Amino acid sequence: MKKIISLMLALLMAASFTACSGQSSSSDASSQTSQTEQTATEPQKEELKWVDYAQYSLDEDVPVKNVILMIGDGMGKNLIEASEIVKGDKLVMSGMPYKTTVTTYSQSVTDGYETYTDSAAAATAISTGVKTYNGNVGLDPDGNELETICEYAQSYDMETGLVVRQVVSHATPAGMVAHNSSRDNYPQILREMIKSNVNVMFGGGSQYYQNKKVQNTIDECGYKYISSGEELNALTKDDDKVLGMFAYDNMGAADMSPSLKTMTSKALEMLDNDNGFFLMVEGSNIDTYEHESDMKSTLEQMQSFDQTVDYVLSWAEDNPGTLVIVTADHETGGLELKDGITADEINDSCFTSDGKHTNADVWLMASGAQSAQLCEKDVIDNTDIAKYMRKVIADARD
Ligand SMILES: [Zn+2]
Repeated sequence: MKKIISLMLALLMAASFTACSGQSSSSDASSQTSQTEQTATEPQKEELKWVDYAQYSLDEDVPVKNVILMIGDGMGKNLIEASEIVKGDKLVMSGMPYKTTVTTYSQSVTDGYETYTDSAAAATAISTGVKTYNGNVGLDPDGNELETICEYAQSYDMETGLVVRQVVSHATPAGMVAHNSSRDNYPQILREMIKSNVNVMFGGGSQYYQNKKVQNTIDECGYKYISSGEELNALTKDDDKVLGMFAYDNMGAADMSPSLKTMTSKALEMLDNDNGFFLMVEGSNIDTYEHESDMKSTLEQMQSFDQTVDYVLSWAEDNPGTLVIVTADHETGGLELKDGITADEINDSCFTSDGKHTNADVWLMASGAQSAQLCEKDVIDNTDIAKYMRKVIADARD
């Protein structure tokens, strides 16, 4: 019996390997055919606009089945305010019923000095509940491996998912799963993420699919690898583990298809199950354009992120037992808005930190199952988010 199973496994692996190499060679072929290239490489776009302000009624006094953590990378308080001035109305995230302030500093190298966090240390804090040095992913300051939020959710048989616009193994998603002393080890981190059996991973970074070790890990772990919007649409719940990388590097502009909302809606469809799931959704490129002090593109990223928040809240309204958390890992850009600033005056010059991260506190907004208690205090620390997610996951199951 064992022999038959291992033979079947070998056949399956061979089949999936063939499918993977088939995919890459067919896309190579199409890029050599000028006619096909036109249609194959034409960037598909999705409509981008501010979604209308809406409030959703999510059940609160129910056990937590699903946790959806939405992180606007670099989404400072002033950026939310700037977005609302430009929109001329509140963002949907502002209509979530509970709100508190979050401190974001990372572990200082010299005792007593707070450090402006990077995305890796912030993600580690939000995921594990432990402060660490900048650059560290899922490791404490002594280099010990910490239990990530995906590992914790998996220990309760929950499914897990990550949807981002950056490279799939970039700092924020990496911190939800992986352990590495350098956030820059993209292929190595990606392989660990694949080995950790996260059910759904969508984002950019298809360049790492060229890496043989990455390809082998995808095959060994039984992942389905996809790289186009059509393949994303075609996914079904039967696809248990999927890695989708839809751009060579970062997915860039907010209107590049598949949008954050499109990827998130597919992830929700695939992750929904009786044991619940943990899903992290990141508006990765808010931060990317803040680093360039590019206000127009930053606001487009905010449109896309708030549109996705709107979708998630409407989904959660129909799926009781879902806790939705919207927050940021840190502020970027040192955005300053003078009193009475108008929409026309909100431009690149409002950024004051030369594209660097700051230590400014950020907002956390919560809605749905057990959301009130997370915001009972006026100020919490980013590590408290990890502790709270664990508590409510355990409370509903132990
Ligand atoms: Zn960040």
